[in-house]
Amino acid sequence: MEQRIKDNLKDIVGEDNFTDSLIDMIAYSKDASEFTHRPEAAVWPTCTEETASVLKLANDERFPVVARGAGTSLAGLAVPEQGGLIMDMGRMDKILEINIEDRLVVVQPGVVYADLDKQLAPHGFCFPPDPASGSVCTLGGNVATNAGGIKGAKYGTTKDYVLALEVAMPDGRVLRTGSRCMKTSSGYDLTKLFVGSEGTLGVITEITLKINPKPPLLSTAMGMFDDLEDAGRAVSEIMHSGILPCALEIVDQQTLRAINQNTDLNLPEVEAILVAETDGYTQEETEYQIEKVADIFRRNNASTVRRADDRQEAEALWTARKSAYGVMARINNNLFVEDLAVPMSKVPTMLRAISDIAKKYDLKIPTVGHAGDGNLHPCISCDATDAEEMARVEKASKELFEKVTELRGTLTGEHGIGMAKAPIMWMEHDELSMEIMRNIKQVFDPNNILNPGKMGL
Ligand SMILES: Cc1cc2nc3c(=O)[nH]c(=O)nc-3n(C[C@H](O)[C@H](O)[C@H](O)COP(=O)(O)OP(=O)(O)OC[C@H]3O[C@@H](n4cnc5c(N)ncnc54)[C@H](O)[C@@H]3O)c2cc1C
Repeated sequence: MEQRIKDNLKDIVGEDNFTDSLIDMIAYSKDASEFTHRPEAAVWPTCTEETASVLKLANDERFPVVARGAGTSLAGLAVPEQGGLIMDMGRMDKILEINIEDRLVVVQPGVVYADLDKQLAPHGFCFPPDPASGSVCTLGGNVATNAGGIKGAKYGTTKDYVLALEVAMPDGRVLRTGSRCMKTSSGYDLTKLFVGSEGTLGVITEITLKINPKPPLLSTAMGMFDDLEDAGRAVSEIMHSGILPCALEIVDQQTLRAINQNTDLNLPEVEAILVAETDGYTQEETEYQIEKVADIFRRNNASTVRRADDRQEAEALWTARKSAYGVMARINNNLFVEDLAVPMSKVPTMLRAISDIAKKYDLKIPTVGHAGDGNLHPCISCDATDAEEMARVEKASKELFEKVTELRGTLTGEHGIGMAKAPIMWMEHDELSMEIMRNIKQVFDPNNILNPGKMGL
């Protein structure tokens, strides 16, 4: 990037909000995935006008811009594949409005998920998606990836809560989409088009989110299964039983081993554990639901069914689940976190396929997942410096995704396409769909300056 462009950027955002230092460029060359590529400079815009002016400059001078939240993407979404500028939204981090009467909040994109949660808690409200990275990831990142989490089965994902957006476009104009209403049938849904768009259509500068009342009471149960398919069948049966747990998570044997090696939780190393949580406003309500779930665990041959006796014990179970990536990362040098989803009835088939593929290619593929919405995270543990092992990883990944498409699932339930899935998007989307997506990109970003190389576009 030429010095005169860097000077222009400093004029727009100020000296303190610009960097091209080597240490910053190295930090911005990565997110939480395995991908890496260095940008040439970075800015921290502090308002919509600065964001729009930077984009206009980039569009006029034709350099790439990658918006960045906390950089926790697991699929290379925030890596500047073609260099250029990182636009770190972290300094636009104000909660602008909490409006309980209208059941909404208005936030800047750099607000951290957990900070909003903390502010909503005293009102008895929440923004439900609850990604496991919630203590650090930003709401702008959540919207741009359509983030989900352990509450997905009952409460949906980010897209179900985005009411309106303010978006800076590449030509420097500012677009306002949506409304403050709980419903609308007015025109094409431009708001939803930006949800999950991975920073390829515009940079989100303000978000209006619907919020939910948070049921105060929870009951938790854990079922231990000696057979993976029994666990899968239990998931499927629960989800059409009429009971909707607010969380239903699966942890497989290899993950349990990793948890036991790194914590003092001492969990039984069975083929799979299911952890379920039900919520409500009376103890009777949550207990009634969780007993139904426990019955289904038993009917599907759970060797043990345990109820968390108090909140502390339940929290310990969730800590184990949420620490899964951390402990898995200790198994070997590299961890490729996959993110497939299949229709609910296919969960047992997919779980067995993952286990068979791991055996076939002699790989460790510990798997956790939001079983309640069919979203599984097989995590391929490997050593990326071992060429022979990497050849096996490649074959195993290919087979995994062939199985997903055969079961009419999706390549990514919540992490996005990014760099990881761009080369295989065709497996899920036919040529006409890809052509329409390319045309949409052309309308919003005709010079392809926004996060180029992502989404298979
Ligand atoms: C330990 C761990 C656990 C995780 N668990 C979950 C989980 O449970 N559920 C889940 O969904 N994900 C999970 N993730 C993935 C990740 O946290 C989410 O994708 C999250 O939404 C990314 O937010 P971020 O602020 O880090 O965004 P980044 O990683 O910085 O960016 C992600 C994408 O959003 C775009 N973007 C960011 N801000 C803007 C903006 N203002 N305007 C336009 N585009 C923007 C970027 O360009 C990029 O394409 C996990 C990651 C880790 C490391």
